[in-house]
This record gives sequence, structure tokens and C-alpha cells, in this order.
Amino acid sequence: MDPIASAGVAGRFGGAILTKRPSYLIVFVTAKCNLLCKHCFYTEEIQNAKGKKELTLDEYRLIARKAGPLTNLNFTGGEPFVRADLADIVAAFRECTGVPFVGITTNGLLRERLLETVERICAQPGPYYLKLGVSLDGFEGVHDKTRDRVGAFQETLRTIEALQPLRRRYPRLMLYVSTTVTKYNKGEIMPFIDFVRDNLGVDAHYLGYVRGSAMVPETKEVSLEEYRQATDYLGHRWNPKSAVYNALNALNSLMVAVNRETIARDGWVVPCVAGQQMLTLTEEGLVKPCEVLEQIGVSPYTMGDLRKHDYDINAVLRTPEARAIRRRILEERCHCTFECANQASIVFQPSSLVKSAWLYARHRITGGR
Ligand code: SF4
Ligand code: SF4
Repeated sequence: MDPIASAGVAGRFGGAILTKRPSYLIVFVTAKCNLLCKHCFYTEEIQNAKGKKELTLDEYRLIARKAGPLTNLNFTGGEPFVRADLADIVAAFRECTGVPFVGITTNGLLRERLLETVERICAQPGPYYLKLGVSLDGFEGVHDKTRDRVGAFQETLRTIEALQPLRRRYPRLMLYVSTTVTKYNKGEIMPFIDFVRDNLGVDAHYLGYVRGSAMVPETKEVSLEEYRQATDYLGHRWNPKSAVYNALNALNSLMVAVNRETIARDGWVVPCVAGQQMLTLTEEGLVKPCEVLEQIGVSPYTMGDLRKHDYDINAVLRTPEARAIRRRILEERCHCTFECANQASIVFQPSSLVKSAWLYARHRITGGR
């Protein structure tokens, strides 16, 4: 990114910190999925996907027009590439909000659609990055078992291979592997980290901590110590090459430090910005602070319905319901290990950045014990 574009991005983050405007959106573009994974927290929505009236492209255009400047936009689901209009949705947000970081997470199985869509997104003008996260849960046996699909591992590897020409053509395409640490893969996680680094030609590898109401509860049998060892090992094995990735990896390390402390304390470490600078939009246009609250039994958790508020996110945030939820998150010192929320809470609050840096430094000195 050239110096002028970098200054523009820095200004956006500064603006989000000062104004506390919504800046980071997680958009569930669909509840449809071609899999039903054992560790999935979205199972109920996926099973009821057919009955849902998902937001249309035109509705997304209206939302984007009123959203204001954004710093980060993550598309998820379900499987986002189920939607044939995903590149158009990204274009609408790019044009209206100038968002510099767009993320998409995928299981990598809808290869032709994915390649065509990624190419269309990368060809869009502007200084921005597309962070494409492909999920792999472990070696073939573990991945196929977790995904409940024989052949899923090989198919996803083929997709990663097929993305390489695009990665070479478009430096803005950042390809990473995303692995959720579960009961099934914790025994092979270290050799798998080496396998990803040495064989897949991706830019990074990130580990998530299994959370929420997993379809098969036993997948969540992972201790803090097992998560700590896995993240430590990964941290020592990866040396990203680009400045942007170095920055993203540094943020990831701070987030892991916060997550470990959250698990160890079972308590609040930094104030959560979900419901303020970070918001979640469901496939039907409901605005929520995050995808986690409902799964830990907190309700009500819906701040408003965009279809009833003229597609205006900021209008939803002014409702009494939204204010009450936000107040409750802060008063009850809500805490969890949702990676996106913890990263946002670090980035958008200088005091949290300092605290997470201290936690990280302490972890490095003490070895996490
Ligand atoms: S984890 Fe992802 S790929 Fe698997 S069922 Fe859930 S949404 Fe689909
Ligand atoms: S701490 Fe977690 S559950 Fe609570 S509001 Fe933030 S992201 Fe949601």
C-alpha cells in the first residue's frame, strides 16, 4: 500500500476510535451451507436456511450507502460463496464505504464459483486487501470427519492450489488457512501447522478456539493449556513476509494473549466493542453485537431490524433496545474468546492495546505460566 493510501487507512482507524462509530462489520450473507460440520455454531440457522428471507443485493446497496466509512468487513455464513452475487455485494460496500480490509471465510468446496468471485473482487479498483480464509481442520482423516464429508480435505487442497495464480496476479489477495482447535485435531495440531507452512503456499495460518454451541459438543473438549501450546507453536513457526501481514500477525498475537487471559480468568480482560464499533448483520438484516451472545444465553440480543429502520445501521444503534444491550455488555463485563471481537476491542481502544501488549510481553517472559 502506498504512503497516501496507508495514511488514509490510518485516518479511518483514528476516526473510528474517536467517534466510536460502527467500523467493523461481520456480515452473514447467507445461512445456506454445503456442509454440516461437527464444530459448527451456526447449525440451527443452516438447517432452517430455506425459510429465511435473505437480504438482496439491492438491500445491501442501501445498507452500504448509509453505513459511513468502514475499516473492516468480514463476510461469513453459512458458506458465503453460495451467493452468486457476493462480488457485487463487496463492490457495493467498497464503493460506498471505502473499506480497506475485506475478509471472506470459506470451506473452499465451491471451487469454480469461488475462483470466479475472487477474481472479480480482486479486479475491483482501490487500495484494499482481500483476506481469504480457507478452513482446514487437520489432516485428511480429521478434516473429513469434522466436516462430515469424505473427500473434503482433497477438494479444499485443490482449491488452495487453484488460487495460487490469482495470488500471484493480485498482491492484494491474502490467502490464509484457518483452523479451529477442537478435540479432534488437538493431537495432530503441531505437525499440521508444519504441513500448512511447508506445503500449501499460503500467507498465514490462524488458529481459533472452538466456541459457541457446537453441533457436536465433544468437539469443545480443548483445554487452555492445549490451546496455549498450539498457538505458541504456530507463533514460532510462522514468519510472514509482508508488512501488512506482520501487522496483522502482531494483532493476532495480542488477541491470543487476551484470549488466554480470558479463559484463565473466565472473566473480562478488555472492554468489548461489539455493539459499538463492531457489529454483526444476520442474513435477514438483524443487527446484533456479535454472534456469540445468544449462544451463551444472553437475551434480548437483537439491536434492531435493518428492514424496519430504512437500512440504516446508525439509526438502529440509536434505538433504546440497542442502547440497553450495549449498556448491558459493559455493565456485566461480558467476555468471550471470539477472535474478531477481541481484535476489534484491541484496535479501537488505546487502553486495550496497551493492556494486551503487556499481557503478551508477560506471556513471552513467563512462557505463559
Ligand atoms: S463450520 Fe462453516 S462450512 Fe461448516 S457447516 Fe458451519 S458454516 Fe458450513
Ligand atoms: S464479549 Fe463476546 S459475547 Fe460479549 S458482546 Fe463481546 S463478542 Fe459478544
